[in-house]
Amino acid sequence: MEKMRAMVLSECAKIETNPLKLTQIDKHQIKRSNEILLKIEACGVCHSQLHGIEGDWKDIGIPPTLPTVPGHEVVGKVVQIGDKVTKFKIGDRAGITPLLEACKECQYCKEGKEYLCESSIITGESFKGGYTEYITVVEDYATKVPDNMRAEYAAPLFCAGITAYKAVKAAEPKLNKKIGIFGIGGVGHMAIQFAKVENCKVIAFSRSQKHLDVAKRLGASDAMVFSEKQEKFLDTLKEKHGTLDAAIVFAPADIVTDTAIKSVKKGGLIVIATVGENPSFMPFEEKTIRGTLIGSTKDMEQVIKICDEENLEVITQIFPLEQANQALKKLKDSEIEARAVLIP
Ligand SMILES: [Zn+2]
Ligand SMILES: [Zn+2]
Repeated sequence: MEKMRAMVLSECAKIETNPLKLTQIDKHQIKRSNEILLKIEACGVCHSQLHGIEGDWKDIGIPPTLPTVPGHEVVGKVVQIGDKVTKFKIGDRAGITPLLEACKECQYCKEGKEYLCESSIITGESFKGGYTEYITVVEDYATKVPDNMRAEYAAPLFCAGITAYKAVKAAEPKLNKKIGIFGIGGVGHMAIQFAKVENCKVIAFSRSQKHLDVAKRLGASDAMVFSEKQEKFLDTLKEKHGTLDAAIVFAPADIVTDTAIKSVKKGGLIVIATVGENPSFMPFEEKTIRGTLIGSTKDMEQVIKICDEENLEVITQIFPLEQANQALKKLKDSEIEARAVLIP
């Protein structure tokens, strides 16, 4: 059996202990006639991998099995196709989101919301992840990547990009709508730009000055330091900008969600794209809290199109595959400006 290099997680542990080990594993083979085999060009490093690897999300069943090859923002070249494949030919480029496969039968799949499928298979929660050299996928769950799009640019679009896009859509963007974005990293820096494409007024919040600088550079009208001194923070915000029309939360801390809810006007909308405890919520203020999760293959096609046409910026920092642990450690220490990307 042909082998390939992979960064394998056998046991959850703090990233400082380098839990991902470079291992030779069996190279994936096409097993069904509707699959394609990708030679991976790049894989983004998502914050959720850090939580999965360190065991923060064991209670919610992540990772469901071990060992795994993490990584769910994958871009590569099609090097082999099954007999019944029609969407791709050898030499095309394609990307995979965290949704590796869905059932095509359930109500969600039929509604075009396959990312909600109860029988879905998640990229990077088995040996089929992106921190390696090859991966197979059913053609329907891969999205074409244009030839002119650099791999390290395209890869982050497949989780950070689509998550940002869907979250901004959920915030019902329109001309001059005042949207606050809480948490500026891989996802947040894309959300700022998608909101700008919709002509919204964006106010960015982060604890890190580095991320606030990024937000400013990408066109946020203002970028404010997030502070846990909630009352003072809200006073400053209201003085400068009044109440927000909508807020989008990417930062996985309950205090952030709580503050976001309080920063929105009555009747306003809060989009939550992260996992957390139920924060204080006042029903009489008629606010709406809405959840969001990646997106469909159709959404993914839109993301590629918008990024290509509008020249959105994807800020990346490149690491060789073997340095996955180091990239994740830097992410943990807020030393990544927006997105780390692994190149095999
Ligand atoms: Zn992700
Ligand atoms: Zn389904």
